[in-house]
Amino acid sequence: MRIDLHTHSNRSDGTDSPADLVRNAAHVARLDVVALTDHDSTTGWDEAQSEADRVGIRLVRGIEISTRFQGESVHLLGYEFDPEHPALVAELRRVLDGRDNRLPDVLRKLAEHGIDITLEDVAAQSGDAAASGRPHIADAMVAKGYIAHRGEAFDGWLNTGGRAYVDRYSAPLLTAIGLLKDAGGRAVVAHPWSRGSDRVLTVDAFQRLKTSGLDGIEVDHNDHGATARERLRAIAADLDLVVTGSSDYHGTGKSDAFHLGANLTAPDQLDRLLP
Ligand code: AMP
Ligand code: ZN
Ligand code: FE
Ligand code: FE
Repeated sequence: MRIDLHTHSNRSDGTDSPADLVRNAAHVARLDVVALTDHDSTTGWDEAQSEADRVGIRLVRGIEISTRFQGESVHLLGYEFDPEHPALVAELRRVLDGRDNRLPDVLRKLAEHGIDITLEDVAAQSGDAAASGRPHIADAMVAKGYIAHRGEAFDGWLNTGGRAYVDRYSAPLLTAIGLLKDAGGRAVVAHPWSRGSDRVLTVDAFQRLKTSGLDGIEVDHNDHGATARERLRAIAADLDLVVTGSSDYHGTGKSDAFHLGANLTAPDQLDRLLP
């Protein structure tokens, strides 16, 4: 059983349509189970489900919510929740509005440095996305010839503290966990020891998150080295949390190291997460 529980389509900042992503999961990566976890949005679920039915693999319907915990950005994976739960929908709307509302400020800062990108340029890149993101601004910079590829924009421009960085609203982490659980879903912290969140996600913090309803920790992720994985696996075992592994695939929007199936979730862990 090959299970990948974290991927992005072009409904956020990935480059495959939901259907293409599921087809690639089945035919290229030979996955048996794939979760679609676009940033802050569930608009890809229906298209992905149709394709999963057609190609005969299991789709886990998911999301990756932008949250904040003790001042740091933390990404929270949610699975199999009611996508129409009113309070959850309202919170996601706030996050999506925050994504859109920061755009003029980012573009103004870029302009101060002679980089001329318009809202239309970004919209041309974000296309079908419900969640606009910094990668779409980066793509617009590429399209206009300012940089060679997406990653360069995160090197001094759009990264936290970069010349054109603008903060945006994120859901409080404990609130987001509560909303997912209230909507009948499961909550798993994504790549907890990526830059930034490693400062606040201590053992004590995981204990608190568990008390708030957290179900699991994404341990096997390319942002984690061998030592981090070992320590996170031990924390998950101590707190009786599910351990997941996943690719965080973004199509051609991220390096090939993040290919579908790059990290996998053990079947018994998926059974515990979604019995
Ligand atoms: P945002 O959603 O606007 O906060 O942008 C964050 C997203 O940008 C992440 O989910 C990644 O997909 C992407 N990202 C972050 N750092 C990089 C990078 N160095 N190169 C390419 N994409 C990146
Ligand atoms: Zn992303
Ligand atoms: Fe993430
Ligand atoms: Fe992700």
